[in-house]
Amino acid sequence: MIDKVTIYCSSSNSLPSKYYEETNKIGQLLAKENITIIYGGGASGLMGTLADSALKNDGKVIGVIPRFMKAVEWDHKGVNLMIETEDMAERKKILIEGTDAVIALPGGVGTFEELFEVLSAKRLGLFTKPIIIYNFEGFYNPIIEMLETCIEENFMGKQHRVIWTEVTRSEDLVGAIKNAPTWTESAIDNAKT
Ligand code: AMP
Repeated sequence: MIDKVTIYCSSSNSLPSKYYEETNKIGQLLAKENITIIYGGGASGLMGTLADSALKNDGKVIGVIPRFMKAVEWDHKGVNLMIETEDMAERKKILIEGTDAVIALPGGVGTFEELFEVLSAKRLGLFTKPIIIYNFEGFYNPIIEMLETCIEENFMGKQHRVIWTEVTRSEDLVGAIKNAPTWTESAIDNAKT
């Protein structure tokens, strides 16, 4: 059963409208599935849209925000639980603690940093849950291509190909989490290329 999912996504308020519309759909979808969202706790951008949409549909939302962001009022005021952290490093750690999966929606450098940190942790066996890259309208094509190049050129082993799952339709997100290959080998075996 999927209980909680961590979502990484953009904090920008200036994106083309299709990104907000799609994120709104995802918030609704997760709420309908009774999946608690754990996210960066922001009120802006896709983060705000996601939280608003899930809450409007009676979903449960947990925010994890560093104190310095709360001090400048970047925090969402309506979530079910807001966890304050000392810094960004603690936030990233808490965002994935006890989660059942991670989904990266479109985002900027903050989202990429979070995504790559969790990909790297999974490669080392420090994180074992599904990591879904939501490749909405090809947004993540260059990053997926880069990851594939890493495997082709042996910067990662072929066994690392299952660390992430690419999804292109929002209705496939929950199924992709359920069907993601398990990652249970030892950290040493997984780290080998
Ligand atoms: P980005 O993908 O660059 O928009 O970054 C998203 C991530 O950046 C979030 O998870 C936060 O770590 C951080 N962030 C940047 N701006 C904000 C904001 N206004 N409110 C909350 N978090 C933000």
